[in-house]
Amino acid sequence: MQESRGLVIDAGLIYLRSQPKYLNRFSDILHKYERLNMKKLITFSGGADSLAIMLEYKDKYGPENIVSLGFNYGQRHFKMENAAAVRFCNDFNIERVVLDVPIGQIGGCSLVDHSIPVTTDMSQQRSTVVPMRNGIFMMLAASLAQVKGCDVITHGACAEDEVAYRDCRPIFFQFLNCAIQAGLTSPIKGSEQIQKDIVHISCSHEPDIFDIKIETPLILEKKETTMARILKSYSVDIYKYSYSCYNGGEQQCGCCPACQERKHAFAVNKVIDPVGYMS
Ligand SMILES: [Zn+2]
Repeated sequence: MQESRGLVIDAGLIYLRSQPKYLNRFSDILHKYERLNMKKLITFSGGADSLAIMLEYKDKYGPENIVSLGFNYGQRHFKMENAAAVRFCNDFNIERVVLDVPIGQIGGCSLVDHSIPVTTDMSQQRSTVVPMRNGIFMMLAASLAQVKGCDVITHGACAEDEVAYRDCRPIFFQFLNCAIQAGLTSPIKGSEQIQKDIVHISCSHEPDIFDIKIETPLILEKKETTMARILKSYSVDIYKYSYSCYNGGEQQCGCCPACQERKHAFAVNKVIDPVGYMS
């Protein structure tokens, strides 16, 4: 029965491929129907920004429709930040996937090369920059999204990030979305339609034409503004499910670039960080 239904669908698709004017309309309708039941893939390191996105998407779509993704790329702070993320996922019943990524083999930055110290420097050339990290992560996320039936991938880039982390620029995510559309699009879409979609993506942010799309809801927002919004729905204790320090100790150092930005957001919102710092 299953097999014969598959044959009928295949025959239908072969017919539609020979009728381009119907193909695109059918493709759009099918696309909208499929999106109704799709999950959201939240890249969730365990940091404060990705926690904020996790909370907002969990509340909007329900925990059963969320897949949480973390990356172990040899970073000093993996153990602590991943522990925070796992605690959250366990407590809120959310699926958690962690992918190992061998960025440590490339080295060259203090997060993955432990012989380079994590400095307190906040300049554009700070030691914690991992070149093209987000490009690598987003392509892996796109692959997982396809397998898990997700139509959205989130990334926690925020307004402060692009000064030092070039792959947090809005234009970079726009081009990643073009690449995903070209590489992962539904097989019933013709090449001509894909090309039109990509031109359209380059000029707009219309979400409906994407099969799988990266969303960066915080990309124009400062960390303290995001935190202020979260604190309208949650008590500050929710931040116990996060950890930001690049040094990765049992307690956050309070001095590295990530700690400095985290401390600033809590100070602006006049609340005490439940995770605390060494200094
Ligand atoms: Zn720190």
